[in-house]
Order: sequence, then structure tokens, then C-alpha cells
Amino acid sequence: MNNGRQARRVLGQLQRGPSTRRAFTLVELLVVIAIIAILASMLLPALGTARARGVSAACLNNQRQLGISVHLYSADNLDWLPPIQAQITGGESSWRSYLFRYVGQAARVYDCPSEKVESYASAKSRPSSRPSPWVLGQFVDGEIDIPSGIGAVNVHWQSGGAPPPFGRPAGYENNLCRWGQIETASQLILFGDGHSDVYGAYPRDRWWIWKELGNANSPGFNRLAQGDPGAVRHLRKANYAFADGSARLLAGERIPCNTNECWWSAKADPH
Ligand SMILES: [Zn+2]
Repeated sequence: MNNGRQARRVLGQLQRGPSTRRAFTLVELLVVIAIIAILASMLLPALGTARARGVSAACLNNQRQLGISVHLYSADNLDWLPPIQAQITGGESSWRSYLFRYVGQAARVYDCPSEKVESYASAKSRPSSRPSPWVLGQFVDGEIDIPSGIGAVNVHWQSGGAPPPFGRPAGYENNLCRWGQIETASQLILFGDGHSDVYGAYPRDRWWIWKELGNANSPGFNRLAQGDPGAVRHLRKANYAFADGSARLLAGERIPCNTNECWWSAKADPH
């Protein structure tokens, strides 16, 4: 008898208690889930943009370091800018070898974090035809073959030529630019996102942003018109290091490039 009374009391409590609270209906839950999904879909692109901006800032920092390292090299070498490449025993090395000691022996400085394939620091795309071991940033045969997401501009040359030991023997690569020959340092691009081999014409020269295909002096010679993916790498823009030590994110169409005006070059050597 007692047991039966207790059971009824418990049952009564249960009926008066939790059952009086209102639960979410299925429709309400679905509405909440839908709202969360809409908010997430609005937030995710913003997160992607923020991440892209972060990667671009890291690239910009690399390029600023490269620009500063050119100044340091120049200060050590009677105001000469570093050659764009070097002829060494057995082959060629790139401009990077000249700057390696000035950027703290940091191979990653030559890379844009947005570029996953052309990575200098990890020496990807090493051709089997050149089996000598890579020594990143050093004057070794084959160093010039290592692609990277950041290329140089050939402002290092000008007509007239520079004395050895800079650059290659007498010939066009021996024509180096001295600091005093730069007309407007704030508009002279030294380095930038990308590489020269947009058309696959220079498989071993993927370390500069110079695309001499056709008439380079023709109006409209610019990276955007040539479809260089490096020119639009960072949210339709690209990073550039300038001779005044600054580095900027620029849209390709903002870089003038014609016979009279070109941010790629010193006035002494337009293109
Ligand atoms: Zn970049």
C-alpha cells in the first residue's frame, strides 16, 4: 500500500515539474540552425580575406628585407647594386647569392608564402639533370635553377658597364647600375611577386620578373597584360620592393610601363 502511494506521489511530482517547461520545437531548432549557417557563410569569406592579408603582409616583409639587403650590399661595394646573376665555375648563380649574407642566411626571405610550388627555401623542382647538391643562397652551379615566388628586376644593369669582379665577364650582364644613377628610387622596383617564366620560355630563369617576350619597349608592356599570375597573387595585387627601401602592395594597372615611363627600370636602361 505504501509503495503504491509513494509511486503516485513521485508520478505527480514528475507531471507537475519538468513537463510544465516549454521545449524547443523542431521548427525553432531548424530556424536557429539556418541562422547559424547564414552567419557562418557570411563570416567565412571574411576570414579567408583576413588570412590572405596576413600572408601578403609576410610576403611584404620578405620583400622589404630584400630591398634593405640591396642597400647593405651597395654600401659594402662602392655603391654598386648587386648583379642580377653571377657566372661561376661550372655555371651560373642568381642575384640571391649576393644577398644571402645580408638577409641572415634566411632562404625563406626569397619566398612568397602564397606560392606553394615555387619554393626556394625547400628547393622544390630540383631538376634531375643537375645533380649537384643545392646550397641555398651560395654561389654554386644550379642555384640559379631554384624557383621562388619572388623575382628580381634587371635594374642592376645599365649601358656602359661596370668593372669586374661584379657580374659576368664583359658583355651585357656586366653592365651594372650604381646607386647614383637611379633617378627616382621610390618608383624603381627591385623585387616583386612572381617570376619571369609566364610562357615557359625560360625554364631556368625563374628568379626575376622580367618578361622580355616580343618587343619589351612597346607600350603596354606590363605584367597584367601578359597574364602573369604573380601580378595578381595577393587579392588581385602583388608586393614590390623599391630602391628607396620601401615595399608596397600594388595593383598591376597602377604600374606605368611604356617607352617613357617604367617603374621596372632606372632611366639609364629603360627595359
Ligand atoms: Zn607575395
